[in-house]
Amino acid sequence: MLGDEEPVKRVVVIEDNPDNRLLVDAILSEHYVIEEYENGLDALAGIEASPPDLVLLDVSLPEMDGIEVLRRLRDDERVCHIPVVALTAHAMRGDRERFLSEGFDDYVAKPIVDEDVLVSAVARLLDGRQPAASAR
Ligand code: MN
Repeated sequence: MLGDEEPVKRVVVIEDNPDNRLLVDAILSEHYVIEEYENGLDALAGIEASPPDLVLLDVSLPEMDGIEVLRRLRDDERVCHIPVVALTAHAMRGDRERFLSEGFDDYVAKPIVDEDVLVSAVARLLDGRQPAASAR
């Protein structure tokens, strides 16, 4: 139901693996407008030009890794407030604490086998509720 409430929120996905981009898009595009980037530099330019409501950031990216992308976002006062969720295949004990201590707002392990984990993490950071509106 598209109501007269809030506009549909925008989520930027920074991920170099096309299959993972497709999966995230399939899971989230029902609820949000998704903008995809495959590298950090293009993403930073896009985010600065038009700040989204949330960023999903693959930690393992070629050239500029996700930790550096996060650092640059946090150093820019125009975008430092945007929630950033780490997407990473490094699902080992202690990683959650490590990524949160790096400054990520949350952490979702790949492969994403339960889409509710991703949907809930995004919804919690955006508004503390489950997504209600359809973006399509
Ligand atoms: Mn990657």
